[in-house]
Amino acid sequence: MASLDIHADVATLTAALIDVESVSGNEAELADAVEAALRTLPHLTTWRFGNTVVARTELARSERVVLAGHLDTVPPAGNLPSRRVGDRVYGLGACDMKGGVAVALRLAATVTEPVRDVTYVFYDCEEIEAERNGLGRLSREHPDLLAADFAVLMEPSAAHVEGGCQGTLRADVIVRGKRAHSARAWMGENAVHKAADVLNRLTSYEPRQVPVDGLVYREGLNAVGISGGVAGNVIPDECRVTINYRFAPDRSPDEAFEHVRSLMHGYEVELRDSAPAAAPGLHRPAAAAFVAAVGGEPRPKFGWTDVARFAELGVPAVNYGPGEPQLAHTPDEYVDVDELYQCEERLRGWLAG
Ligand SMILES: [Zn+2]
Repeated sequence: MASLDIHADVATLTAALIDVESVSGNEAELADAVEAALRTLPHLTTWRFGNTVVARTELARSERVVLAGHLDTVPPAGNLPSRRVGDRVYGLGACDMKGGVAVALRLAATVTEPVRDVTYVFYDCEEIEAERNGLGRLSREHPDLLAADFAVLMEPSAAHVEGGCQGTLRADVIVRGKRAHSARAWMGENAVHKAADVLNRLTSYEPRQVPVDGLVYREGLNAVGISGGVAGNVIPDECRVTINYRFAPDRSPDEAFEHVRSLMHGYEVELRDSAPAAAPGLHRPAAAAFVAAVGGEPRPKFGWTDVARFAELGVPAVNYGPGEPQLAHTPDEYVDVDELYQCEERLRGWLAG
């Protein structure tokens, strides 16, 4: 079994984490090593669920915060074992996100009396289909262990605070017509032609730019697909326009759907799927202290990330971690040693007071 020295310096620990391969679905060895290391720490209570490990302080502080990171990586691309080149650590998951996991483990090992209680979560299966996501499973089966005032997801963000995330919704707008032989088109009503009205509403739509907790979320409402037609000699009686709405954290999925329906009034609208947005919650005391401690200007997150799973539990969350996000999933991914130290030091300042 691999063993980890979580008291080693953060660059050494990052390399050690990279060298325990943990492609999604195959995290057992790394989860074993993380669990074993955390169980040696008397100031933490540790749990294991599948290949997800949770450890937390129980100091009855007035606030509790979560630091969460996924243990899995995408498949290797000739980038194992780790390599140290100058002030960079190269290797599979260096950036996404073993560097972030190393920072969290270092803090777990060394901040024994944090000013706010801390829950550390190391979970499996983030890089694959959502149903297997370890954080999702934990939030369904043990939501009590994720209860907190604020959460930090250690995704690579080049050590910038990226607050919340936008929600996403897909829906079909159904345009109905009347079928007829195309030789007698006047007998029918062409649903594909009528869809022009739906497309016009979309092209003239002005997406909102919504400030939430001081961050401006830029929405998008777009057709991402269109289908219709019966045969080469038939006036079509139905056309579907699939819409994707990326919505700001001031709207719930229900409100977002209501918005699409009101924009498409007069048409039937069918919801396909949706995922909630997450508010950054930067006005909360734990979050404000976090931003003050780590510095820089927080930025909005436009994609959908696991921070939304915290939002569903009523816990505001941000992304913050070492590594350039655009290096994630590339064969040459690396993390800057300076950024590892910087993240560790700033989070230490926030937790240790
Ligand atoms: Zn990641």
